[in-house]
Amino acid sequence: MVSVTVFAAIRLWQKRIRRVQHTSSSGLPNMLALSNSVLPVGCDVVVATIARYEEILATLPQDLHGECARQIARRIAVGCGAGEIYHSDGGHFAWVEEARPLDMQLSHLEGLRALFAAPLQVGPHTFDTNIHFGLDRNEGVETATRVNSALASANEALSSGRVIELFEAQRLAEAPWELSLHARIDEGLRNGDIWLAFQSQWDIASNRICGAEALIRWNHPTRGPIAPNAFILQAERAGRIDALTYWVLDQAIVAALAINARGERFQMSVNLSGQMVDKPDLVKNFADIALRRGIDPGLITIEVTETSSVGNRPAAVHNLTRLRQIGFRLSIDDFGTGEASLTYLADLPSDELKLDRRFVSRITDSHRERAIVASTIGLAHALGQTVVAEGIEDAATLALLRDMGCDHAQGFYLGRPQPFAVFEREYEARYHREFGRV
Ligand code: C2E
Ligand code: CA
Ligand code: CA
Repeated sequence: MVSVTVFAAIRLWQKRIRRVQHTSSSGLPNMLALSNSVLPVGCDVVVATIARYEEILATLPQDLHGECARQIARRIAVGCGAGEIYHSDGGHFAWVEEARPLDMQLSHLEGLRALFAAPLQVGPHTFDTNIHFGLDRNEGVETATRVNSALASANEALSSGRVIELFEAQRLAEAPWELSLHARIDEGLRNGDIWLAFQSQWDIASNRICGAEALIRWNHPTRGPIAPNAFILQAERAGRIDALTYWVLDQAIVAALAINARGERFQMSVNLSGQMVDKPDLVKNFADIALRRGIDPGLITIEVTETSSVGNRPAAVHNLTRLRQIGFRLSIDDFGTGEASLTYLADLPSDELKLDRRFVSRITDSHRERAIVASTIGLAHALGQTVVAEGIEDAATLALLRDMGCDHAQGFYLGRPQPFAVFEREYEARYHREFGRV
């Protein structure tokens, strides 16, 4: 009798624990379960939040809510190999990752994000969605605090439209570094630690270089090279992204003019941060710089991503429309990864689609990826766009893209990002070789 009572009590207790530590709709362990656990040494805490989660649930019958969450959790688990995914009803998913170097962790999460480019299929319902991450690297701090930090960072990422928001112990410890970032960027620009690399873009049909993308670089004297993704993020935070963008544009124009002076039309692409697209003075500043340097704006392509998450979307659309009216070319960067990929085409005036390298790199081994790329090229052409494929790392990928009718190509196989002097030398060598052949 006693043992039956004890057994029943244990069962009840276990049930209660299950209820308290599991999210009712999905049956997945919840944030409390993660907060109460002891984390292994050397790990980061990641919280992902799903854009428009409430909206998705609102269109689903109640009995599919759990399946929706489990499907997201499965996709995350496949992408990162995490054993346990924790879920809270608000559309947050958490797990722990091996603490890789920051650059690697950021690109790992970028890769995971690409998995969310494919729509969710819950029962008969299909949804496009997007995922944002909060990352805590606060080794040694209590788990609950780390989970909360990652959660807050994920919410911050969602509301600012960034893919990843970072919460690092170092960030606090290095407050002086962050506070003086402003000055350091200016210093880097002055003394040449910040510089531009140029990566060639090729016209696939004629097998000639037709342009380049300008990519920013920072070789810090004590910290070494800082990845552009990381320092663009910091520059946005420090309110220094405007200065950097205009500096990049100006330097890229100088380079474009030098190559165009050789007589062949050469197109220069620059990246425009999502944080800047809706700025009131953007169009004027771009137009002024082009005018001052005396370049035809048609030789400059502006690559934009993520305008869907920009604060003031109508202002962004207005700016981009104006830039295009002035003559700049517009390119939709990283096409195929964001939530807004297809809505871009409907909403935004653009001249070019840039296929993201995560798709491009998979076309040689995946039928599905190949079909996606082929139909995207067809769709883009039907809408009068040119298509650039980035991230081409081998001859087989380039050959497939040629067969699919892709217009332009960029990637390590064709040329790495180089300092201008090196780029120009290689361009010249090829230019002469090409003419020698004609
Ligand atoms: P992105 O615009 O997608 O730039 C392409 C990135 O892919 C570059 O990384 C380039 O080095 C890399 N890449 C090119 N070909 C290959 C390839 O064949 N294989 C692989 N694995 N990678 C390849 P990078 O230079 O590290 O730039 C990363 C991101 O930083 C850029 O992505 C862009 O979003 C941002 N960024 C770079 N320069 C600027 C800038 O001047 N302004 C702004 N706002 N963002 C910039
Ligand atoms: Ca780009
Ligand atoms: Ca890109």
